[in-house]
Amino acid sequence: MDPVLAAARPSFDAAEVIDIARRTFDVDASGSRDLGSERDQTFLLVDREGEPLAVMKVSNAAEDPATLDMEALGVLHASRVDPTLPLAIPRLVPGASPGSNDPEARRASYRAPDGHHHVRMYSVLPGRGRIEAIVLSDAALIAWGEMAARVGRALRGFFHPAAQRTMLWDIQHAPRTRQLLGAIRDPGQRELVDRVLDRFESTVAPVWPSLRAQVVHTDLTTDNALTDDAGFISGIVDFGDMSHSALVTDLASVLDSLLIGRTGDELFRSARLILDGYQRVTPLEPLELRLMGELLATRAAVTIAISSWRSERGLEDPTFAERYNAPVARAIETLLSVGWEAAARRFGAEGEPHRITDLVRRREAVVGPAMESLTYDEPIHVVSASGVWMTAADGRRYLDAYNNVPCVGHGHPRVAEAIARQGRRVNTNMRYLHESAIELAERLVATMPAASGLDTVLFVNSGSEANDVAWRLATTVTGNGGALCTAFAYHGVTDATAALSPESWQASRPPEHVETWAPPDRLRGTDLDAAPFDGALERLAARGLAPAAAILDSVLTSDGFLDPGPALAGEWLERTHAAGGLWIADEVQGGHGRTGEMWSFQRLGITPDLVTLGKPMANGHPVGAVVTRREIAARFADETVFFSTFGGNPVSAAAALAVLDVLDDERVLPRVAQTGEALGQAIRSVAAGDPRVLDVRGIGLAIGVEVTDGATARATKEGLRQRGVLIGTCGRDGNVLKIRPPLAFTTAEVPVFTSALQETLIRAAAGDRA
Ligand code: PMP
Repeated sequence: MDPVLAAARPSFDAAEVIDIARRTFDVDASGSRDLGSERDQTFLLVDREGEPLAVMKVSNAAEDPATLDMEALGVLHASRVDPTLPLAIPRLVPGASPGSNDPEARRASYRAPDGHHHVRMYSVLPGRGRIEAIVLSDAALIAWGEMAARVGRALRGFFHPAAQRTMLWDIQHAPRTRQLLGAIRDPGQRELVDRVLDRFESTVAPVWPSLRAQVVHTDLTTDNALTDDAGFISGIVDFGDMSHSALVTDLASVLDSLLIGRTGDELFRSARLILDGYQRVTPLEPLELRLMGELLATRAAVTIAISSWRSERGLEDPTFAERYNAPVARAIETLLSVGWEAAARRFGAEGEPHRITDLVRRREAVVGPAMESLTYDEPIHVVSASGVWMTAADGRRYLDAYNNVPCVGHGHPRVAEAIARQGRRVNTNMRYLHESAIELAERLVATMPAASGLDTVLFVNSGSEANDVAWRLATTVTGNGGALCTAFAYHGVTDATAALSPESWQASRPPEHVETWAPPDRLRGTDLDAAPFDGALERLAARGLAPAAAILDSVLTSDGFLDPGPALAGEWLERTHAAGGLWIADEVQGGHGRTGEMWSFQRLGITPDLVTLGKPMANGHPVGAVVTRREIAARFADETVFFSTFGGNPVSAAAALAVLDVLDDERVLPRVAQTGEALGQAIRSVAAGDPRVLDVRGIGLAIGVEVTDGATARATKEGLRQRGVLIGTCGRDGNVLKIRPPLAFTTAEVPVFTSALQETLIRAAAGDRA
């Protein structure tokens, strides 16, 4: 233990203090006032009128001068990093060269009967000391949190050998305070401290070495800060406990001190405000946040133990030393009554996953029947995901061969960081100038085929909105009201896009202005030419309608991954134009590299008039866009003003830009073609000879496996899920396995997929025979 804690305080009287000040620092004081200190003596020196002159600190005789030098160097370091931090910096002794970096030039030694005392002189900082924490406003709590983080940040690059000390106030040494338990007179408090130390040893100590560590203040409290009238910190006056420890040690002391007098809900509410302030400067790591309750309780326990022990030994006046013990004990009681797990959640940490059955019931109660039901007979409760693997609450991992939205992989750090960074900096709308949406639009335009004229971008927030806006553009520009879509298409949830989504029509009547056409079914050899398209145009014309637009998902996901090929697609496009309509390429499914090209319409060799983007665009962050030609946008602008509050906001744009970067950096597109090829081949060889499997088709990582019927498809999907692989189903009869993984899927995952498929098919065949 640091010997200063066991040594007696210095006991200089007023006359000696004035004498020392004059002789060692040329400070000519007429009076002094003892400001109170745990183990040192701190005096305010005043002139004849009682006006403050300086603050003098007389160190304990057991103080190691190296510690004082560390303190001086640390404060100088911090004030260089963050010059507006209101830090008490020890003055240079008279005669020292100005601006000296020699810490010894900031202290003088004074000999007394009990040994040498080091004396330091400080300028008087504004504000008053020892504010009662309970009076601090919410704004002050937040500001204290922010200040604590700034102090930590300012000390980040500092080190000094003396920082490796065993200062008991530093909570990493909390287990050592067990030897002090006997000094705690109040049995209730003793038991609380004992329980907290148990918890520290079992839960905190094992992970302590993984916490971010540096030289920290360790004692940011109302005793060591001056505050202005509003309770904001105007001075930090004591770096005497500075140690190399976990960064969050500072937060433990701030919480311990500021939460005094706050219990129950108010303790947690106030703590969250302090943590918000801290995280304005330094975001906390998940583990740091999770341990916040234990860290606060440990600091409270240490407070009780050390003060009780020092009182018992007669080192301090018990009333002064133990003044915080009752209130900090109440803070511990609050934490224990809530429980550690719940406390962590109330500080803002992620909680333990809830029980699946509870979640299903609660979902049903508040979400109701209109929302599509959960995937799988036994729902999957996902708690995390990385790359192509998703982890459920029960710890089981699933290979994701279904989700196209996290296109560069679940939880990609580049995208997650872009969102967090931009969210901290500024998020606003496109009425203000900002780089990211402009850059995103430029880069999207640059991906469109040369000479396509697709040079103008409108940002929205989803695929539905993109299609909705594209439809508005088409009707406005053409003056027509008819629409064409494929027989089982899906294009969105809005009124206009649901009308273009036969998949959603179900029981309702097809909308008057929409006609569908059947895409070619190469397996059965039907609808191979343009006749179905012509038929749809004729039926529209018979109702007096000309097409405003035809809309196509070029990988035909909902229709069951059918492939029109360039020749037929070209005919569709030509006929649409001839009838006065525009072509909308819906890239919500097929875009952003799914086919191995950036856009799925490219392989059809067509140039659309409108391109709509969504789903994978920002790897899961909601973003959508319409890309079109300038003259189309200009005609629209003649009739209306377009603005979407969130469309093109800097956070969404940063996420979408990160996706474009990763697609390039990880060379995703060339890999998609290869992986898709390998996956398709592997599925074909596993399914060869199985009468259930009628067709394996697809482009890139949009693969459909047509099976005999919807029930077989659903059973296969469930079978794969039981074997840890996630897929979906699609097609009018629901008889096509929808294999559409994140583009982070590689050939390494192919055997995982195919062995699960093989087992599922073998088991199904055995079931048939049984
Ligand atoms: N277009 C297509 C082709 C889609 O698959 C979807 C969504 N499944 C949408 C549009 C609608 O996108 P969102 O759900 O983001 O509104």
